[in-house]
Amino acid sequence: MQNVPEEWREEQRAGGGGEVDAKAWEGREALFQINTVKENVEMMNEGGKGTEKESLMMELTRLVQKTVKESSWWERRGIDITILVLAFLLLPPAFLLLGSSQVLVFVLGMVLMGVSHAVISIKGTHLASHGSLSESPAWDDFWAVFFIEVCGSFTARAGVTGHIKMHHAHTNVIGLGDSSTWKIPCLPRSVYLFIAPLAIPIITPLVALGQLKDHSVSQALRTVLMVFLGFYCQYWLLMRVSGFQCSYSSLLCMLLCRAMFSIPYIHVNIFQHIGLSMFSPTRRPKRIYQMTHGVLNLPRNPLLDWTFGHSLINCHVEHHLFPFLSDNMCLKVKPIVSQYLKEKALPYQEDTYLSRLQLFFQQYQELMVFAPPITELVGVQ
Ligand SMILES: [Zn+2]
Repeated sequence: MQNVPEEWREEQRAGGGGEVDAKAWEGREALFQINTVKENVEMMNEGGKGTEKESLMMELTRLVQKTVKESSWWERRGIDITILVLAFLLLPPAFLLLGSSQVLVFVLGMVLMGVSHAVISIKGTHLASHGSLSESPAWDDFWAVFFIEVCGSFTARAGVTGHIKMHHAHTNVIGLGDSSTWKIPCLPRSVYLFIAPLAIPIITPLVALGQLKDHSVSQALRTVLMVFLGFYCQYWLLMRVSGFQCSYSSLLCMLLCRAMFSIPYIHVNIFQHIGLSMFSPTRRPKRIYQMTHGVLNLPRNPLLDWTFGHSLINCHVEHHLFPFLSDNMCLKVKPIVSQYLKEKALPYQEDTYLSRLQLFFQQYQELMVFAPPITELVGVQ
């Protein structure tokens, strides 16, 4: 059974939805318990409304839960796990092709390595941070460290805290989950949108080092070892299997492969939240309004669906409403969610990649430099 719905369970408690089988959803492990009862109650209540039932969210939850319960393991986890396994299986041919002296074969090796790295370090890291890869808390911890630290060169603790505790718990709430960590106002728009992302493979481990001061000595040591292990394995394989003769060319190849999807990665992260409704921490709307007004879906795109996962591309609204669902389950419940929101006259925000890119390029100052205006959702509470 799908892990977790800590938020779900809290909503049931606070909302009195006793008929929903909470036990069937138990199993969130320690990493994710940081999303505390207090925060979940805060997510549901706003403006001092106390324990008022979030009936729309409960109704939608029941519809989605029914679909999840009727789904097989293959649909709930198997498809996404298979995609991750395929990404790892791409690595041996990629290393071998990178040993070729023919330009086209070498470039094919680079592309395979870049795609594989993107699937593992974006889709894999994201699913691992949500505990969506296993039903066992111990394995979830293991996968979080493996994907986030070994493959993603970041700290599992800071990654999970930032993504689950801040971004998901406080989506578009000013000062908490307002995506301001993505803003670098000193950079011109073209540099920010098209050049700076290429430095992500270098910046990420440096930011991770900065996060270590908040870790215990043993956690910090583990993170440093795991990140080093990930880098060194790829470097060693390039030197020994691909036959690179020089350290610099090997490191340059690693940088190019790891940066291959950095530009869309930055774009997707800013396109789906910035420029939409932003909320005050003291007057935040109920969860269903928060997510439907503050999250946007991009259209389906075969390459990004596979490398980033549906929950980061065309099912981002579904992912924010039900963050413990796997990519494939987000896709499966998408028609239910979109139809329900439209029936209830709630927003179901969608826009194309190019349209968002145009908007961010044209209104870069307003969106990425100036402080965002706060939205008051009058009349919907
Ligand atoms: Zn997420």
